[in-house]
Amino acid sequence: MAKHRKHTSSTPYIRVAPSGVHGLGAFATRDLPAFALLGLYEGRRYSKEEIAAKAWDDQLTYLFTLSNHETIDGAKGGNGTRHLNHACDPNCEAVEEYDDAGRLVLKFQTIVPVEAGDELFIDYCLTADDGSPASKYPCHCGSANCRGTMLAPAEVDSAS
Ligand SMILES: [Zn+2]
Repeated sequence: MAKHRKHTSSTPYIRVAPSGVHGLGAFATRDLPAFALLGLYEGRRYSKEEIAAKAWDDQLTYLFTLSNHETIDGAKGGNGTRHLNHACDPNCEAVEEYDDAGRLVLKFQTIVPVEAGDELFIDYCLTADDGSPASKYPCHCGSANCRGTMLAPAEVDSAS
């Protein structure tokens, strides 16, 4: 099932460097307009059943679950898109799209113009399936409208 295919960097607009917010971050390598494609979120894919059967401990950082319940683990075979940190007032977003082969992919793009050197952020909108409190996923993004957590707004409501 594993296919080994040579794959060069598909994220030329992303440079990975220490973040001002958390760990490593992704920074724009050049000025970009709004809705510029940064790259696809790549990595090993798991089905809903495979995810449920696996003990993830605290390695949740690079997991992205799609609307078809497949999960992409950016820690395995991922690219620079996995280093985008969360912000409650982000300058980028992740958009699902079907590729030519009919596969659901996750496209990272800017939502506002960014300048070379700007750190790139998306709103993770995490969901805590295990009912973890919002405080387990604190946000320190510093935005004026910071929710204080990386969980999706609905999760914050249900947790309070
Ligand atoms: Zn925040």
